[in-house]
Amino acid sequence: MIVVGGGIGGLGAAFSLTRQGLSVRLLERAPAFGEVGAGIQLAPNCTRILDDYGLLEEAKGLGVVPDAMVMRDAVDGDELTRLDLRDLEKRYGYPYMVIHRSDLHGLLLRACERAGVELITDAQVTSYENTDGGARVTLASGETHEAGVVIAADGLHSVARKLFVDDEPVSSAYVAYRGTVPAEQPRVRSVDLSEVVVHVGPACHFVHYGLRGGELLNQVAVFESPKALAGREDWGTPDELDAAFAQTCDFVRDGLQFMWRDKWWRMFDREPIMNWVHGRIALLGDSAHPPLQYIAQGAIMAIEDGWVLGEHVARNRAEDGTVDWGAALAAYEAVRPEHCRRVLTTSRKWGELWHLDGVAREQRNVLLRARDTYDYAFTDWLYGPTALTPDEEPPMFTPIPLSSAAVEDAGRAEGE
Ligand code: FAD
Repeated sequence: MIVVGGGIGGLGAAFSLTRQGLSVRLLERAPAFGEVGAGIQLAPNCTRILDDYGLLEEAKGLGVVPDAMVMRDAVDGDELTRLDLRDLEKRYGYPYMVIHRSDLHGLLLRACERAGVELITDAQVTSYENTDGGARVTLASGETHEAGVVIAADGLHSVARKLFVDDEPVSSAYVAYRGTVPAEQPRVRSVDLSEVVVHVGPACHFVHYGLRGGELLNQVAVFESPKALAGREDWGTPDELDAAFAQTCDFVRDGLQFMWRDKWWRMFDREPIMNWVHGRIALLGDSAHPPLQYIAQGAIMAIEDGWVLGEHVARNRAEDGTVDWGAALAAYEAVRPEHCRRVLTTSRKWGELWHLDGVAREQRNVLLRARDTYDYAFTDWLYGPTALTPDEEPPMFTPIPLSSAAVEDAGRAEGE
């Protein structure tokens, strides 16, 4: 079979499918495999899969397993709410960790090499078509590749997606700057590297956490671009960065000097689509569901997609090794789009909550300060085991369990 795209999604899928005994050819348009950017957060719904792949210990060795995730107000710096990540690990059985993108990408690439994936670079796919026995891709060079199934993990600007829908990426008018601070800088000594922290502010937010065992401090500064709102083409430029954070606390503003100013990421997502399988061509990762990054699930969803597909291949393979692709792809399409739709729409809403101003910001802060650190009602649907069937998919928000004391009180009240 063929996987198009050697990002985190494509490599994850190629490894998962090779692990099921399939022979996989991966086509990447770039001249070399690699990832740009700095850190990435991996929640338990991903580390569970890395563990199943036998890659979790190596990932932990490359990354950091923090103790807490903390949300602060970007204007006054005050803490709003937190997750105890040690307790969270007990609840979900797997850690929440952070890792350099290139380290995660390298980990998956090495796993693919060891598993025997045929890795081909300089291979830009320009078109996809179904054939009698499978599907075919054509490269910019004119070369064609054919297989029983083609998985298109070709990212936000996917060529394959055009087979499904005539849509465009949706601009959020937000832009992300990234940067790392080396350990010798006083700023690194001033932060608690055991915490993942987000400062949320009016039309902006700032994330920081340690990487590579504390050798680096990863920082992400995100803001709404006035030039984007004004409809200008040249939006998100560095002159907008400092202005966007002018109202924020000293800690956040001090971090801006370390952002890379020669590269920035405009934040796009797409409207969710529920149809990802066209004959023997299937979408996976950002090609199917590029999210805004506010709940840090984009790469995770891509890794989940590959794992789920691998599990359905295993369930639909005859003793002679042939796979009932119709059944495997139908099972994949039955379970993944609805979960990813929820993630996409929740990410948008979560971003709106982070970026509130005025009275709405104050109301948000009151609610967040009142939240119990150990209330997992908002994370169970996301961080729990990845569903293989729609029936296994947990409800979006589980009801907050009443403490036994509250239940007793309620019982007494009923009796009176
Ligand atoms: P991509 O990474 O886009 O990979 C696509 C690959 O396909 C590329 O290698 C590309 O060169 C190749 N390709 C494209 N077109 C062709 C073609 N025609 N022919 C051949 N090859 C092609 N996610 C998380 O889970 N946790 C986080 O903490 C997180 N933080 C983020 C922070 C920011 C600022 C941003 C922007 C995103 C973040 N994400 C996060 C999202 C995550 O980065 C993406 O969702 C994820 O990388 C998507 O992986 P992918 O492999 O599907 O797509």
